[in-house]
Amino acid sequence: MDSAKQGKAKKKASLSDSSAPDDYWQKKLELDKKGIQLFSQTVYANWCKSCGICIALCPKNVYDKNETGGPVVARPDECIGCRVCEVHCPDFAMSISERYPDRRISPRAGDD
Ligand code: SF4
Ligand code: SF4
Repeated sequence: MDSAKQGKAKKKASLSDSSAPDDYWQKKLELDKKGIQLFSQTVYANWCKSCGICIALCPKNVYDKNETGGPVVARPDECIGCRVCEVHCPDFAMSISERYPDRRISPRAGDD
C-alpha cells in the first residue's frame, strides 16, 4: 500500500474508533425518526424596539414579555420553525435557526 492510501486508511480507522460522531448522528436520527425538529430563537436586543409583534404572532406562545414589552424566549422547544416572528419583525431583530442536539460531547479545555 502506498503512503497516501495508508494515510487515508489510518484516518478512516481513527474516525470509526471515535464514538463522538456516531453519538451525535444517533441523537439527530432519533429526533428525525420521531419527527422532532428543534429551533433556536435569537433576539438582537439592541435592534429590538419592543413592539411585541413577535410575541403576538407566534402560534406556539414561545415568548413571554419582558418589562419593556420585548420578547423573552420562554418555551424554545415549542417552536415549530415557522419563522412568522422573524419575517414580521420590523427591525430584523429576530433570527430563527435549526438547533441540533448538542454537538459538544465533552467539555472544552478551560470550561468549568
Ligand atoms: S417584532 Fe422585533 S422589534 Fe418587535 S418585539 Fe419582536 S423582536 Fe422586538
Ligand atoms: S418561528 Fe414560529 S413558532 Fe418559532 S418562535 Fe417564531 S413564530 Fe413562534
